[in-house]
Amino acid sequence: MFECTLCERETCYFSKFCDKCRRIKHYINLYNDRPIEILDNVLSRDIEKQSNKEKVEIEKEIETKKYNLREKKTSKKPRVELDTVD
Ligand SMILES: [Zn+2]
Repeated sequence: MFECTLCERETCYFSKFCDKCRRIKHYINLYNDRPIEILDNVLSRDIEKQSNKEKVEIEKEIETKKYNLREKKTSKKPRVELDTVD
């Protein structure tokens, strides 16, 4: 029986991290520094403004994903055209 390495509150039996901290670690593995930036941006506000900021951050994230998807689609087009020319 051990204490979670990250939160130092939860008890862990098989891992260094509790379930919640493992999820945090998973997000960091997926998105690098982005989860830390979001936490900094959201938690530095007072409680009532935090939920507003969460919504803004989530919308920003969705817009970035949409933009990246659009970029992928448009960046593929010229390559396809080049392939057909060859
Ligand atoms: Zn933990």
